[in-house]
Order: sequence, then structure tokens, then C-alpha cells
Amino acid sequence: MERGFDVALICLNGHIVNCSSHDYPQFNKKFCDACGAQTIEECTNCHTAIQGSYRDNISFNYKAPRFCFNCGHPFPWTGAKIQAAHDLAMELESLSNEDRQMWFLKQQRRCYSRSILIMSAATPYGV
Ligand SMILES: [Zn+2]
Ligand SMILES: [Zn+2]
Repeated sequence: MERGFDVALICLNGHIVNCSSHDYPQFNKKFCDACGAQTIEECTNCHTAIQGSYRDNISFNYKAPRFCFNCGHPFPWTGAKIQAAHDLAMELESLSNEDRQMWFLKQQRRCYSRSILIMSAATPYGV
């Protein structure tokens, strides 16, 4: 049996499909069963295997790495998160204070319709 780190199989959205993909290949999947995205087991930039769980230290706390340890390239799931956060920051930046409040209300979907009710009740229409 090999020692050191096993190789992890992770979907493009960052779901860990198998953190011991070489020792337990029977759990490998071509596509993520949580979101349907393709799974990868190597860096998309330099093709270094993604570090999985450490063999001598059986851990159930494995977390998907965010960057390739070999070339520093962000993994697809990391890039998606950074891009989303960036877009969000840009979007909020371009909004006025009022729009920003509306935007936050929209994010709270569960109480959205309730907020609208309260707001329209409190807004004078100048009739
Ligand atoms: Zn997934
Ligand atoms: Zn890499």
C-alpha cells in the first residue's frame, strides 16, 4: 500500500466525491452525485494530483483545498467563489443606498414578500 497522501476526486463545484480515490476507487464517480458537475482529481493548470486524505491519519475532516499546492492556481470551485464575490462587490458598489437596501431585501427571500407588505404599508403614496 502506498503511503502519504491519497488523491482526492472533487467536482468542479467543490463537492468532495472521494478523498481516497486511489485506495478506494470503488467510490469514484465521473460526475458529482450532488450537483452533476464533472469531477477532477488533478489541477486543471499543471495536472498535479489533488491532495486527498493522509493515509496514516484517518481523518473525517477532509476539506477541498482552495489552491493547487504545486502551482498556486485556484481550483475551479475557488475561482467560482472569488468571481462571485467580486461580481457581488462590484454590483453593490454601483448601487445607491436605497437600491442597496432593496438588494439586501431581495436576498432574504423568505421574508421578502413580508418586507414588501411592511414597506408598502409604511410608504406614503401622496394620494
Ligand atoms: Zn458537485
Ligand atoms: Zn497546479
